[in-house]
Amino acid sequence: MSRVVLIPMGVGEAFTARHYTTCLALGVGDDWLLIDCPHPVRKMLHEGSTAAGLPQPLDLDRIRAAAVTHLHADHCCGLEDFGYYTWLALGRRATLLMHPEASARLWDGLLSAGMELVQGQPEEPPSRKLLSDYFELIDLDPSQPVECGPFAVECRRTIHSVPTFALRVTAGGRVLGFSADTAYDPNLIEWLSPADLIVHEATTHPHPGLHTPYEKLAALPGSLRAKMRLTHLPDDFDADSSAIEPLHEGRIYEV
Ligand SMILES: [Zn+2]
Repeated sequence: MSRVVLIPMGVGEAFTARHYTTCLALGVGDDWLLIDCPHPVRKMLHEGSTAAGLPQPLDLDRIRAAAVTHLHADHCCGLEDFGYYTWLALGRRATLLMHPEASARLWDGLLSAGMELVQGQPEEPPSRKLLSDYFELIDLDPSQPVECGPFAVECRRTIHSVPTFALRVTAGGRVLGFSADTAYDPNLIEWLSPADLIVHEATTHPHPGLHTPYEKLAALPGSLRAKMRLTHLPDDFDADSSAIEPLHEGRIYEV
């Protein structure tokens, strides 16, 4: 069986000056699922996969699909790149996995301003495009896993300002849990706890309605902390004294 690996391409919070923002690549063999898709996604993939020592740098042509947790820009502002590049350079549609509540305003509220009008020739009028011209949008379903190649993706609503969904992804007999953005939610942590590797967001800044205070996670049982890694951290986070290991961009993790 192929080994299942995670390469974080971005681990910073929204206002990071030192990192890229949230983006994970989950691989089984050379089949890759992107989790969240910020800008500049191709540069992030190139740098992260090169640092992780992949024999060939990862690019969008090897991404089977992107599972997007919510529409805050630090998680999704690379979708225009993903859609245009896949359409123009690869000649096909990009596949997106999202809960319908998370994707409800994807086109009208986010992408249409930059993607609706396309001009083939200078003398021609622009033609009008739809979301479905660029993307195959697959709805995630909280009641059952949704299969996409070797990945089975489950989702669960989190506590966040805009509709946001945590993920459990099963591939190659291993399970990755990802909190997405969320206020502290013991029920969500319970839902994530069967996973082999849990990536949880955390903050040390006072945003308890939006994000999970680090202290709450540091107080979890050691067995849970041992398989948990932190992401979405502020730049001034003290990694050396952390009770839970923070994720590093461009490092390869066995799931
Ligand atoms: Zn958010």
